[in-house]
Amino acid sequence: MNSVRMDNISWVEYEQRVKAGSVVFLPCGATEQHGPHLPLGTDALLASAISEDVAREVGGIVAPAISYGYKSQPRSGGGQHFCGTTSVDGATLIGLIRDAVREFYRHGVRRLVIVVGHFENQWFVTEGIELAMRELGERGGMEVMRVEHWELCRKETLEAIFPGGFPGIALEHAAVIETSMMLHYYPQLVSLDSIPAHGPAEFPAYDMYPTRTAWVPSSGVLSSAKESSSEKGRLLVADVVDGIAAAVRHEFRLTGRTPI
Ligand code: ZN
Ligand code: MN
Repeated sequence: MNSVRMDNISWVEYEQRVKAGSVVFLPCGATEQHGPHLPLGTDALLASAISEDVAREVGGIVAPAISYGYKSQPRSGGGQHFCGTTSVDGATLIGLIRDAVREFYRHGVRRLVIVVGHFENQWFVTEGIELAMRELGERGGMEVMRVEHWELCRKETLEAIFPGGFPGIALEHAAVIETSMMLHYYPQLVSLDSIPAHGPAEFPAYDMYPTRTAWVPSSGVLSSAKESSSEKGRLLVADVVDGIAAAVRHEFRLTGRTPI
């Protein structure tokens, strides 16, 4: 059972690896429309694949992903009006994260990395960690890293991939970064022929409730994914995996660990 995936190993092996001090990774995504060319699971699939690559480098374990996220917002994910965008309330996500941190701790995990793959999750994940940490107390020895994986894309790589200028991560929903990363990890799940041709969405600098659905391109894609490629995906993923692995080694003081 030589797998980095928690759901692929027995409790006996899990216990051994946790006792040996393995870092546990918890991917945290969403079930959300990603245009006509990407699957609904994109955010959780990418967070999981990245977590597995990092875990192989640092001898870690990847827990099953939290695959429902906080409500999709028009300016960053298209909004809740798309069929299939199936979200949870903020309080639910906070509770899920708080419970997960407490459960991993209860079984001896002391180094946890939450890899966020859905833009709207960030502050609810943060609050879940904060509440769990307050309860565990500093003497509990638990350390948690929270990382939005796209933050590790290096400036040089973004400049090479977006010669016309980077539109910003919010408008990157279902666009070049996510589509290229999906082409790298899950090419069989990408429908290149279905990529819409329209340019970037234009939003005012505020939100309205109920959602002004007319602001959002009906495809659900916020800027064009036409220039996506598996090669760009490979470059982006290399930045992200190397960056998270280096951060994990540094913050958790790992030295000379044999990769699995
Ligand atoms: Zn996404
Ligand atoms: Mn998302």
